[in-house]
Amino acid sequence: MTALVNLLDLDPAQLIAYCGELGEKPFRAKQLQRWIHQFGVSDFEAMTDLAKSLREKLSGRAKVEAPAVISDHISTDGTRKWLIDVGQGNAVETVFIPEETRGTLCISTQAGCAVNCRFCSTGKQGFSRNLTVSEIIGQLWMAEFELRKSKGFAAGQKGERQITNVVMMGMGEPLLNFEQTVTALKLMLDDNAYGLSRRRVTLSTSGVIPKMDQLSQECAVALAVSLHASNDALRDSLVPLNKKYPLAYLMAACRRYLEFAPRDFVTFEYCMLDGVNDTDEHARELVELVRTVPCKFNLIPFNPFPESGLKRSNNIRIKAFAHILSSAGLVTTIRKTRGDDIDAACGQLAGEVQDRTRVQERMQKQVEYQKKFGANFGRIVEIT
Ligand code: SF4
Repeated sequence: MTALVNLLDLDPAQLIAYCGELGEKPFRAKQLQRWIHQFGVSDFEAMTDLAKSLREKLSGRAKVEAPAVISDHISTDGTRKWLIDVGQGNAVETVFIPEETRGTLCISTQAGCAVNCRFCSTGKQGFSRNLTVSEIIGQLWMAEFELRKSKGFAAGQKGERQITNVVMMGMGEPLLNFEQTVTALKLMLDDNAYGLSRRRVTLSTSGVIPKMDQLSQECAVALAVSLHASNDALRDSLVPLNKKYPLAYLMAACRRYLEFAPRDFVTFEYCMLDGVNDTDEHARELVELVRTVPCKFNLIPFNPFPESGLKRSNNIRIKAFAHILSSAGLVTTIRKTRGDDIDAACGQLAGEVQDRTRVQERMQKQVEYQKKFGANFGRIVEIT
């Protein structure tokens, strides 16, 4: 028996081609895509405006299957985090951050990460594998329809869109999983799927320069760059990829990207590490570094985890640092810490694998993940 094709793996053009193979016209692919991505329906029988013959063909050949959810936590501030099983002892995080005027979903693109940034617990786990398209878009699919369900909308009902923005800032370096990431991006932007504007989809990279150029040509969405340092020596020690793609080249790549980007600035992310990259001198050096790149800064209070040996800069230091940047004319925000009680900081998995209704299963999973990710997996990291 041949394996079922997971339709979540197919972008709009691929779905048209797939329907063509079944002898169906392109408009059928669009209908099918709307049932899947706009109404959250996975049962072909429920897709009532598709011909019965097509539904039967699909039932024997295809499926719509997002990866399984291991745990689902809601923070007191409304942040919701899912831990998603992507097989063979791998799990990734998906985090929803509700705000007054928008709902942002932070999704993962790889299980683990090879870049190994010093301040990132994902990096400490090493690289496991690239996620498939269905595992990437499946996070958005699952989250959107789970959120609608929480608001009382069943699958198939036209519910109000819950996720208005997507950031690829979870586990993994998206540009090192380029093809799958771009296919997922195309689905996010497609009017018959999620219809998000390019401005509302942000890809965050640690600076894989050739792929930044390729992305600008294939699917230019808003860009964030994990900067975290004001000079090469410091960045070499925090983001090892910098040795391959140093700052001068990275700044030039940002300028090139902006010629095609939907926004006229790059967001630089800067994780505030006590005594490491947070002095006034670092701030002044940063102002010089980005002089020729239209940009905004997002200062991120570090979320400590046991193996890092690093501490979060205190709030007074973060504010002083932000003041130097803003006084130099750079728009600077300080990221609110959200979901601390569920450890929701993107890429800083502590992996509290918890499902109160299935304790046995949870314990087995926990042992499995601890073998894979180390003894600290499953511990809640205390924020001091
Ligand atoms: S910060 Fe991003 S690129 Fe760096 S190790 Fe973590 S997931 Fe990878």
